[in-house]
Amino acid sequence: LFITVEGVDGAGKSTPLSWLNQSLQAIGRTVVLTREPGGTALGEHLRELLLHEKMDLETETLLMFASRREHIAQVILPALARGDIIISDRFTDATYAYQGGGRGVSLSKIEQLETWVQHDLQPHLTLLFDVPLEVAQARLAKGRSQLDKFEQESMDFFQRTRQAYLARATAHPERIAIIDSTVDIEQTQIQIAAALQTHLNI
Ligand code: C5P
Repeated sequence: LFITVEGVDGAGKSTPLSWLNQSLQAIGRTVVLTREPGGTALGEHLRELLLHEKMDLETETLLMFASRREHIAQVILPALARGDIIISDRFTDATYAYQGGGRGVSLSKIEQLETWVQHDLQPHLTLLFDVPLEVAQARLAKGRSQLDKFEQESMDFFQRTRQAYLARATAHPERIAIIDSTVDIEQTQIQIAAALQTHLNI
């Protein structure tokens, strides 16, 4: 099974992510926890460049997909072949949200790269952590000592990114579960458990 976790910066993905990892292990599943951009040695190099270097927005999109291709080949497909559960902190929905919604790369370009790099590989379930922007910004201001290139973007950028994520959820309701991430951790866990039950029957 392939599960991805998404949301704007400050949406509060990390605590529920480790809870999800632990609860799946507690029921005896082998879990591979990974992230994008990154997840492989080459991907982590690309992540450093993506988070800190200025670049053309199409270059940024291509590097995201280069990191993704390596991740799919080296980590995701082998894990799926072993029957493990793979949980990725961000995947292609992030490209639609950030490079598409946030930066304005055309959807058709992203779709072409998606087809090229993924063929028919799609997550079985995507948890989209959603909060109003003010909440996300307040969490970011509190939680991070240094902000990366994306985290320093404007409110407008994050507004477009959030809207693009929500549009993805509307277009793919069979795969994407919106998690209201304004509530406390217990209530968040209840929503995640419900999504696992509804979408994956676990
Ligand atoms: O989720 P995480 O904080 O690890 O993501 C690293 C940074 O990369 C974030 O600021 C995120 O907004 C950005 N990112 C992006 N486009 C993607 C994936 C991540 O701009 N496709």
